[in-house]
Amino acid sequence: MAIKKVLRYGEESLRQPSKEVHKVSKKIVDLVRDLFDTMYAQNGVGLAAPQIGVNLRVFVVDASTKDNPLDPMVFINPKIIKKSGAIKSTEGCLSFPEAYTDVVRYKDIMVKATNEHGKSFVMEVKGGNLLARCIQHENDHLDGILFIDHCLNRFEADEVLKKYHLPPIEPDKLLDEEELKSQL
Ligand code: ZN
Repeated sequence: MAIKKVLRYGEESLRQPSKEVHKVSKKIVDLVRDLFDTMYAQNGVGLAAPQIGVNLRVFVVDASTKDNPLDPMVFINPKIIKKSGAIKSTEGCLSFPEAYTDVVRYKDIMVKATNEHGKSFVMEVKGGNLLARCIQHENDHLDGILFIDHCLNRFEADEVLKKYHLPPIEPDKLLDEEELKSQL
């Protein structure tokens, strides 16, 4: 298919909530291919449709390990139906080239979604591993939430954004996660 341009932080569609997919049509299958092509071209572990300017509830993930070298996963209309525990995670995002900062995430999650064949599935990921954190990060993109909204230290995060010539933290977008952070 095609390698698309990844939108950078500051572009409006990254903050827009995405719409549900009603049918896994050819258009959606093509979108999934574009997401994988673009993600692999940029060496990413996940990519959400709004990052390529398509505000639909679709993301792809490949949290490969040595035991599982290529592990592509597709999530259409995902819903995190269970979440617990807390873990500190150092994250980046293809929409924030080179910028990394510490955020808080749930450790264990259960996600329900539809795959590229239109089949629904439930997946449980425990222990706060890369896959668990990545699913939460990509799922947020579908609601216009960005990883910096979860930052543990907004001043540190702002410094990093400045260093890489990205717009500053948007204070009104910061999430109130005191209870989650207290579990760290
Ligand atoms: Zn991202």
